[in-house]
Amino acid sequence: MVTTPDSDVAARAKYEPVIGLEVHVQLLTATKIFCSCSTRFGNPPNTNVCPVCLGMPGSLPVLNRKAVEFAVLAATALNCRINETSIFARKNYFYPDLPKGYQISQYDKPLAEHGFIEIQAGAGRKKIGITRVHLEEDAGKSLHEGFPDAAEKTAIDLNRTGVPLIEIVSEPDIASPEEAYEYLTLLKEIILYTGVSDCNMEEGSLRCDANISVRPRGQKELGTKTEIKNVNSFRFIREALEYEIDRQIDVLESGAKITQETRLYNADEGRTYGMRSKEQAHDYRYFPEPDLLPLVVDEKWKAEIINQLPELPEARRERMVNDYGITEYDAGVLTYSKELADQFEAAAKAAKNPKRVANLVQGELMGRLKAKNLEIGQSPISMRGVAMSADLVESGAISGKMLKDLYDLSFERGKDFPAVYDEEGRPVQSSDTSALEKIIDEIMAANPKQIEQYRAGKKTMIGFFVGQVMKASKGQANPQVVNELLTKKLEG
Ligand SMILES: [Zn+2]
Repeated sequence: MVTTPDSDVAARAKYEPVIGLEVHVQLLTATKIFCSCSTRFGNPPNTNVCPVCLGMPGSLPVLNRKAVEFAVLAATALNCRINETSIFARKNYFYPDLPKGYQISQYDKPLAEHGFIEIQAGAGRKKIGITRVHLEEDAGKSLHEGFPDAAEKTAIDLNRTGVPLIEIVSEPDIASPEEAYEYLTLLKEIILYTGVSDCNMEEGSLRCDANISVRPRGQKELGTKTEIKNVNSFRFIREALEYEIDRQIDVLESGAKITQETRLYNADEGRTYGMRSKEQAHDYRYFPEPDLLPLVVDEKWKAEIINQLPELPEARRERMVNDYGITEYDAGVLTYSKELADQFEAAAKAAKNPKRVANLVQGELMGRLKAKNLEIGQSPISMRGVAMSADLVESGAISGKMLKDLYDLSFERGKDFPAVYDEEGRPVQSSDTSALEKIIDEIMAANPKQIEQYRAGKKTMIGFFVGQVMKASKGQANPQVVNELLTKKLEG
């Protein structure tokens, strides 16, 4: 349960929040950034290591070309300018899971700068600036549980040491927890589209720190900020920011000052806790990494890399609207993930009517997935199945009602549409007029009043009869045929 400190509404309205986000993304290279050790997640602790990533004296780093290419792709997708020359720098600090005593990062000459992404904010759109995207190596992991003497000891796993990261630093343009959530969601979508990371937050491939301060509305000068670290879901980041804004306003309203510090969010309690004071801000004593040359991405190499950039979500939505005659809203839903968009396009191309495929995905598939708490990747009905069902409705072989029933069966049985359609004996809606005529006669005999109304000029009454016939045929009748037969009999 989320609890927030009470700050009265009037006090809150006096302040505006200022939020900046730092996102670390692990790149999907096969090997580490400065050595040839594997980056595979989940290997036994301390097996993906060598003298370079263990920080042994005398070992030398060699830059992984693929990591540079991935970083350039991501930065370009985020509308950044790629600096032809960037410099690796040593960021000096001690931590048990950082055996070298420094992290190789980039400091005053990062790989890329001056980017932005455009988020949905209220009814309009808002540009959030991206200050920089730089390359760096990840540190190892300190393990506090999961082994016999965990109560007394901390274990170190250095498999992650030297895994390539990009750090994406936003401008403090984010004005609410909701905007932060939108920014992160879109950022993740774009990175996923580029294919440079799996952005798996549970495995730590995407991590986010938030800087947050409040200031009286209209004031230019920024308030003292706190940093919220190690939050492992976008939803929790939104909650943590909501809590922290209220907390800071309460502190200021009580006449006290905000302490510049790092805070941790406890999702169970829905509150943040001070972790360490930043009053004596870290002096990392950055200096250029003497073991690496300046990184040069010249025009030719840059062009080669950017050439591999796939179509990004925004452009794809526009094209899908044009190609398939679907609405912008439809396109938004269908490009929610690259996987879904790819599958949809394959199905739409295979089907007779792409618009019907779009409608089925949204109207029949998404709702059922949501009800069962499934991702599109876990759907029992594949896009191939959706395409097949769309064609069956299109040709009049099955009715909309029959499709709904077959989809329900697919979800019940966890089987794809073609399999269920076969199991059900490849049903077709009834166009057998003699059987339908019998049903119609019975219904007309039972409803003389409605016939009178129809014949007196209330033509809309036909809807009542169609409904009754469809019901009596258990949705198997072809509505068009029913309509024709009914009209003939009612007019007669
Ligand atoms: Zn290594």
